[in-house]
Amino acid sequence: MLRREEWDHDHCPQCDTSNEDSLHILQCQAPTVRKLWDTGISDLNRFLASINTQPEISTALVFGLKMWYQGRNGCQPPISHGIREVYRSQSRIGWHMLLFGWLAKDWRRAQDRWLDRISTKWKSSSLKWSTRVSNWMLEFHHALWEHRNSTYHDPQHLWRIDAKQGQVQVMRHLYIQLAALTLPTADRWLIVRPLSTLESMEMESIGQWISSAQQFFKDREQPSNRVWHQTTVTRWFSAPG
Ligand SMILES: [Zn+2]
Repeated sequence: MLRREEWDHDHCPQCDTSNEDSLHILQCQAPTVRKLWDTGISDLNRFLASINTQPEISTALVFGLKMWYQGRNGCQPPISHGIREVYRSQSRIGWHMLLFGWLAKDWRRAQDRWLDRISTKWKSSSLKWSTRVSNWMLEFHHALWEHRNSTYHDPQHLWRIDAKQGQVQVMRHLYIQLAALTLPTADRWLIVRPLSTLESMEMESIGQWISSAQQFFKDREQPSNRVWHQTTVTRWFSAPG
């Protein structure tokens, strides 16, 4: 995701590799994301059991998702032939599609057969089952995005700290130069406050201060700019109204 407004690169805020796209957000290998996946996988196991999932379907879903996250394609889960076929269907659709709530149709058929076997009084619905599985997947997908966004917006993120330190350096350099000059009244505001106070300002205000200071030096090199500007302003002020 290229963030032109804030950063001139497309690195992942979690692991810093380049080319962060929407799939990378789900598959990022940063330690905090791995932890989220570990918790997610345990939760999925419990969740599937709680909704009476056929045990081999649970094994297959958990296994497939985990292998996809780890980038280990081609591994086979320890399941019987019938479920292995369904596993292959999901592999053809893509395991990442599961995180978009897209379950291969055959999961439902397999779950139906299981529900027929275990249900006595009431017939549970495999449609309800598959909807709940889809919803779980979408929620997990959402949690991965939320995690990424909270990392991205964290004021303590290294990118922000680095950027601020860079700006403070520039400000210090300009401030020292300005303090050594006798400034015209109009520009004295730049050094009225001590440097330490200015350094504690928000990044945006530091940025504004820097551009004003740079403008001062530009005008100083080319005084004609300023004279022209001042004359225009003076004329405007004294124009008969
Ligand atoms: Zn990453």
